[in-house]
Amino acid sequence: MKAGRVLVVGAGFAGAVCARELADGGCNVTVLEQRDHIGGNAHDRLDDHGVRIHPYGPHIFHTNAQRVVDWLSRFTEWRPYEHRVLASIEGKLLPIPVNRTTINRLYGLSLDESGVEQFLNSVREARDPIRTSEDVVLAGVGRDLCDKFFRNYTRKQWGLDLSQLSAAVAARIPVRTNDDDRYFTDRFQAMPQPGYTPMFERMLDHPRIKVRTRAAYRPGEGDFAHVVYTGPIDAFFDHCFGKLPYRSLRFEHEHLGSEQFQTVGTVNYPNDFDFTRITEFKHLTGQAHAATSIVREYPQDQGDPYYPIPRPENESLYQRYKELAQQRHDVTFVGRLAQYRYYNMDQVVAASLTAAGRLLGRSDE
Ligand code: FAD
Repeated sequence: MKAGRVLVVGAGFAGAVCARELADGGCNVTVLEQRDHIGGNAHDRLDDHGVRIHPYGPHIFHTNAQRVVDWLSRFTEWRPYEHRVLASIEGKLLPIPVNRTTINRLYGLSLDESGVEQFLNSVREARDPIRTSEDVVLAGVGRDLCDKFFRNYTRKQWGLDLSQLSAAVAARIPVRTNDDDRYFTDRFQAMPQPGYTPMFERMLDHPRIKVRTRAAYRPGEGDFAHVVYTGPIDAFFDHCFGKLPYRSLRFEHEHLGSEQFQTVGTVNYPNDFDFTRITEFKHLTGQAHAATSIVREYPQDQGDPYYPIPRPENESLYQRYKELAQQRHDVTFVGRLAQYRYYNMDQVVAASLTAAGRLLGRSDE
């Protein structure tokens, strides 16, 4: 592999990390990206009013993997940022994940931590086995909190009832008895100080990397020793077993004249409106600006593939594509779309470092 010519398809985290690692390892790398920019869904830019926005929805970096932090820190400085989310329920703005404040304010109580634990024990429903997201939520917070915070949000987000989604989806949502109102609890929570796109520019700035945007790859194209493919795995195989289902989103961006729109980065609307949430970017980026920009997210079936839909039948279909992929020793499939996994950015970086290390013949990968 050393010094070979490699084609990397996609300039998101998976593509950019692999490209940089392989170039550092001596390969000549061409990156093809079908969009007119790098960064994949983590791409950010200034809008027409000079506010830094995330065109593909809010991206908050958080991880427990020091290896990932160390690697990315070669290409960016960081700004500490802990994301906070409120849910609009019955006219109140309440912390999510559900914590002590949420329960006390929702029900007009003044419970201490052990009181909250007792309260949760009294409303939790025994579910055995835990198969679906509904089982997870009912076993975690009981029916009333489930219906107020999770059922309708899930229906909007996925177009499915909680009972139709794998347990793994709701397993991402913790419940707390204390007042910790951070959305994530990872050891490292920070945003690339100048933005994601400048970080990608530095990653791809290498004499052995050539990037072509507005360049869609078609399987079989070009003369390369190896292809690293980060697009949808079903598209690579011409959807021969049928299309893998993805959930898409429509983003409605708005610029507002006021300095601040809401008190936290994101407010969820589980039960009202067709959108799921509103994010105000300045909370995430720390940018000082006299005005502000927000985005509303409307989930939909059609459009760019954003979220692999975690259901058992989709996993089985993915496994059939994966078997085909395993026979292609000339292609490495890595990333959220190529592995049909609900990966966060840090997980994609870790998977990509491992994949590139294997290609370079590093024995510890
Ligand atoms: P992508 O970013 O999708 O990049 C793949 C790239 O390949 C794309 O640019 C695509 O155009 C290109 N491509 C595909 N096919 C072809 C082809 N045939 N030819 C050329 N180019 C091609 N993660 C977090 O850690 N924190 C968050 O807060 C967070 N928020 C998110 C919010 C939303 C709304 C979404 C959708 C995702 C969020 N994520 C978040 C997940 C994060 O976006 C992904 O983990 C990460 O972007 C995946 O990187 P990737 O390179 O695998 O895929």
